[in-house]
Amino acid sequence: MNRVVLIGIICLAMLLGGCASEQTAETQDSPKVAPTARVEKPGKQPKIMYVETESGRWMIHDINRPAPPVVTPGKACGDAPADSIVLFDGSDLSKWADRKGNRAKWVLGDGYMESVKGSGPVQTKQKFGSCQLHVEFATPEKVTGRGQGRGNSGVFLQGQYEVQVLDSYKNKTYPDGQCAALYGRAVPLVNASGKPGQWQSYDIIYHRPTFKDGKVDRKATFTVLHNGVLVQDHVILEGGTGWQGPHAISQYELHGDKGPIMLQDHGNPVQYRNIWIRELKD
Ligand code: MG
Repeated sequence: MNRVVLIGIICLAMLLGGCASEQTAETQDSPKVAPTARVEKPGKQPKIMYVETESGRWMIHDINRPAPPVVTPGKACGDAPADSIVLFDGSDLSKWADRKGNRAKWVLGDGYMESVKGSGPVQTKQKFGSCQLHVEFATPEKVTGRGQGRGNSGVFLQGQYEVQVLDSYKNKTYPDGQCAALYGRAVPLVNASGKPGQWQSYDIIYHRPTFKDGKVDRKATFTVLHNGVLVQDHVILEGGTGWQGPHAISQYELHGDKGPIMLQDHGNPVQYRNIWIRELKD
């Protein structure tokens, strides 16, 4: 046989061989085995075909696995989804009170509420534990003061743990107290602050702490997006955020499974609007 023809035949055979093995690899995605069987080859990792879940043991890609509920989102980004509890839509303060349960003394403006110096914080009448919380806020457009004295307020989960609100647009302060800090505990990953007077947003995913025999046995976690930017990435809150002095904060203290969402009056007129919450499993 001509050498050139022979080499051609060998190359053709190699090509066909390669195609055959590729074809085998492509079809491996389709299960050819009974659902109860496992494909294990010596020296190779076994295929993962099942997962254990809260709803039972399910085969990967099982069409019968329970699908999540449908939730209709808000029309625009930041609008309340259908399964949320609207805490403030700009029309009234009926879901809010002062710390003693009396009428909230903050001012209701055109679609917003505003803190009033000396009136104290406002908090929701309803109490919540683990949750997803959306809050929009604006620090004063007219800039006065500096550091912690500029647009200071705060969003407190369970009435305990503060996500700091501050005018941190070109305003130097201690980083663990700037806007989007877990006050005294965790510095935000970046400073995503808008300008004074501009509406800004927080989206907070919070898992409450749990307590056993009066002591914390699972610490709280926070994930926070500030104006859509990740600033706290599943941060474990090591203790309380209560101010105890210039260089001291509080420890965890026993509290209930649920508490109010609280907004701080720190003497600066900070505005809030569009506040909604979705309760989460612990
Ligand atoms: Mg504050």
